[in-house]
Parts: sequence; C-alpha cells; structure tokens
Amino acid sequence: MASPSETWLTDPFLARLHSAVRSAGPLRSISVDLTNVCNLRCTGCYYFAEGMDAAAPSDDLDEMDTFIARERDRGTNFVTVVGGEPSLALEPLKKLHEAFRINVATNGQIPIPRDGFEGLPIGVSVWGNRETDRQLRGGGKIDVFERALANYSGDERAFWYYTVAPGHANEVEGVVDRCVANGNRVLFNFYSDVESRGGDLDYRQGFDTVREAIDRMILRYPESILMTSLLAEVVSTGRLFGAQWGHATCTSVTADHPVNEDRVRNGKPFNRHFKAYNADLRSTRRCCTGVDRDCDSCFDTWEHFSWVMLNLRSHLGSKSDFTSWLTTMYLFYFINGLVDAEEGAMLLPEIHRRTMGERSKDRCQTNLTCS
Ligand code: SF4
Ligand code: SF4
Repeated sequence: MASPSETWLTDPFLARLHSAVRSAGPLRSISVDLTNVCNLRCTGCYYFAEGMDAAAPSDDLDEMDTFIARERDRGTNFVTVVGGEPSLALEPLKKLHEAFRINVATNGQIPIPRDGFEGLPIGVSVWGNRETDRQLRGGGKIDVFERALANYSGDERAFWYYTVAPGHANEVEGVVDRCVANGNRVLFNFYSDVESRGGDLDYRQGFDTVREAIDRMILRYPESILMTSLLAEVVSTGRLFGAQWGHATCTSVTADHPVNEDRVRNGKPFNRHFKAYNADLRSTRRCCTGVDRDCDSCFDTWEHFSWVMLNLRSHLGSKSDFTSWLTTMYLFYFINGLVDAEEGAMLLPEIHRRTMGERSKDRCQTNLTCS
C-alpha cells in the first residue's frame, strides 16, 4: 500500500517540486565567516554584539585551500557565508565559490563583481526604508539601502534579505516595491533587537502586523517573494506544530561543540554535519548567529528553513502539512540556485497559492488593499 506521502506525490505539482529537490541531492552544510571586519556598524548586529569578531582570519590564502580540502574530505557541499562583510574578502570568497555551492550575505555597499562570481546567490540585507536603514545601519549618514539598490540593480544573482522590526511593518510595502522595481526578489527576516533597544524594535510585541504586510506582498508579487506565508509564521512565532523554537530544538548547531552536548543528545532532529566556523577557519561556535545569546531573540529565517526541512516527520499528518514542508525545501533550493531558475520562477506563484492559508487571504482581503 502506498504511504501518504507517495499518494500526495501523485499530485503533479508536488511531484515536480519533489523531483527537482531530489535531483539536486541532499545538502551537507556549514557556515563560515570570511572576515571579522565590516564597513558598517548596524544597531543590533549580533555579530559584533556577541564578540564573534574575536577570531581573526589568516593573511595566508593557503589557509583557505587547507580548509576547503578538509571540508571536502568531510563531505561538505554547501556553505553559507556570513559576517563580517564578505565583499571585503573577495579572494577567499572566490575560492569558496569555486569549491562549493555557496550563499553569501552582504550589506551591499561594495558590489561583488560579476566576473568570477557568476551564479553566486547573494542575499543583500535591508532593514527598512531609506530613513530607517540610514538610522539603524548608516549611523544617520550613509544611505545604505540606496547604495545597495544601485549596486545590485537588475542583478539576477541578488535577492533582498529584508529584516523587519515589529514597529516598522508600515514600511514593508514601499521597500518591497523598490526591491522588485530594482529587478530583485525578496526574502524576509525578523528583527532580533539583541541590544534591547525596545520600542518599535522590540520583538516581544510580536510580528502580526509584519506578517500581514508580508501576506499583502505575496499577493501583490507572487513571482518575487521567496518566503511563504506559512514559513513567515513559523519563523516569527517560533512554533512548528507542538514544538517551540530555541536551543533545544534548533537544528543548526555545531554538532561537536561542547556547549551543544546536551542538545545533540536530546533526541530532536539536528543537522549532524553542520559546523559554524569563525573567521580563523578553525574554531567554531554554538551556531552561526550566536555564542551565548538568548535564543528567544532568534528569528533568523535561514535557521528556521533548516528547522522545517529537518522535520519532515512532523509534516506527514496531512497533505497540506506535507505541502508546507516540500515548498519550504524547494524554496531553499531555489534561493540557492540548486534547482532550475526558470522553472522555479514559474512555480513560485503556485507555491504561494497553495501555502497562503485561507485565514491570511481573508485577513488581507478584508482589511487591506492587496494589489
Ligand atoms: S552589515 Fe551585517 S555584519 Fe556589518 S554591522 Fe551590519 S549586520 Fe553586522
Ligand atoms: S541563537 Fe538561534 S540559531 Fe543559535 S542556537 Fe539559538 S535558536 Fe539556534
């Protein structure tokens, strides 16, 4: 007798997503800091708040070759490059790009050249509209968003990694309009307030209005939004079925780091291959976004992708739960250039149609203008 998932995969749309992900193969991922410096000092940057810049990179580029060889031997095939600012370390970035499938996060102030970085998925960070980004990230002086828009205009490698704070939901529409007009897609993230500034930045208010704004953008630009309504809910509420997000459930912890000893023994799924490397390429830390920060403040979308992806079993209760899992898998692969780009672009609207809950649609259509 066919299992439930085999029955659901007789749906041609789901079969298409499943086949694309299967053909791309499983990911054995790590995260790496390429440098411990940055050309900005954003308010609430976990990298500097947590002292992750203490480990300095070597000046010797051969160290990167050694690292690559070691990780290849270990079976690594996917690398997320995080902070400091990777555009300040182009030579090691190129080596990683040539060796693995990678994704890089940048603040967009220095363009990553096309030459030698073809096909590189680039997540360009933005935290709000021109004024908000200028205040939170540019010290009141630098137009961070404007510069990044100019640097990545029409660049098919780039997508926006848009971090929204609870009190800034009213900016979502204008920011997304500009990103899409710039020729780029948008993935959302939720502001952590690691410096406890409170007020409009305080995550304790919850992200209901931000999610409503995201839903409106999904309905307006279904071909350009890289996050489903369901995933936005998982990330911003920290709830996945009966489980609560935190260190005890997080799947992206350095598996052999002493601080995670209890975590990896508690029976919850985790990525056994994962390590979060500091910029010295040797030492590791608890996870890519923290040393000892309170996990209650963690709304990092990248980590929540992994949480969903590694929890297939909890998504086998119904076809809609399975669809939620499979679309999350597919979107991660699509964002990272691991499945066919043209096919992915074509499938995005149907992914949103299937995952936008009726509740979200009703709320959007009753309260707000959606197009
Ligand atoms: S650009 Fe990124 S690494 Fe640099 S200060 Fe801002 S959040 Fe931190
Ligand atoms: S800060 Fe986030 S990614 Fe790090 S262990 Fe906590 S929940 Fe996981």
